[in-house]
Amino acid sequence: MKKHVKKSSFAFLSIAALAGSILAGCNDIKQEPSDKPVQKEVSHDPATEKKKTKIKDEKVDAGGYIIGKKLPKKATYMQGFLVASKQYPLPASYAPGENPEARDAFSKLNAAASLDGFHFDAFSTYRSYDRQVELYNAYVKRDGKKAADRYSARPGYSEHQTGLAFDIGEVGNEAAYADNAFGKTEAGKWLAKNAHKYGFIMRYPKGKETVTGYMHESWHFRYVGPKAAKEIYKKNETLEEYLGIK
Ligand SMILES: [Zn+2]
Repeated sequence: MKKHVKKSSFAFLSIAALAGSILAGCNDIKQEPSDKPVQKEVSHDPATEKKKTKIKDEKVDAGGYIIGKKLPKKATYMQGFLVASKQYPLPASYAPGENPEARDAFSKLNAAASLDGFHFDAFSTYRSYDRQVELYNAYVKRDGKKAADRYSARPGYSEHQTGLAFDIGEVGNEAAYADNAFGKTEAGKWLAKNAHKYGFIMRYPKGKETVTGYMHESWHFRYVGPKAAKEIYKKNETLEEYLGIK
C-alpha cells in the first residue's frame, strides 16, 4: 500500500495571485499580507487516491478563496471538531451564538492569569453571518474588495461565526487589540504559553501561514477543549495538522 504514496501524487491548488493570498481572519487587523503562496495538499491518504484523480484543479482568487465555491448547507465537523476555514466555510444559517463552554474556559483562564498579574478581555467572540455581511460590505464600500479581503474574512468564512473563536487582549492595553504588538507583551506571551491548559489554541501561529491560510494573529484563539489543545500545543501543530487535513 505504502508504495502508492508518491510525492508526485500530491495535487496542489493553483495560485491565482501570490500577494495577498494569506489573509487575516479577524477584522481591524493592521498587518500587511505575506507574499507567500498558499500550497495545499489535497490528500495524504492512499485510500483516496482514486478519488483524488477526479478532483478538479481548484483555483483560488487573490483573497485565497476557492473560486466558485458556494457556502455549504451543513457545517463541517472532523473528528468531532467544527472546522471553519477558507476550504471549509460555514452555512449562512449557522448561528450558534457564543459557546458557553468556551466562555467558561475563558473565565478560568482569566482567573489563573490574574494570579500572575494579567487581566484579559475577550474583545470579539461570536459574530453572526449577518454581522459579518454588514462589516465586510462596509469595508468593501470604503476600501474596495481587494483591500477589504486583506483585513476582513468574507461572510461564511470567519471562525468567529462558530462561537468558539475568542479575540483576546489585555485590559488596559486596548491599543494592541487585534494587533501583533500584543504577542510581544508579557501578557501576550503568558497567553501563548498557557491558553492550551484551558482548552484554547493560538489558531494562526507564526510560520504556519501556508497551513492555516491566514497570517499570524497573536490575539485570535480557538476553543477546542483541554485535551486537544494540550496535544496541539505540545506538538506545535495547527488545527489542520492535528486533524490531518494539511
Ligand atoms: Zn479573531
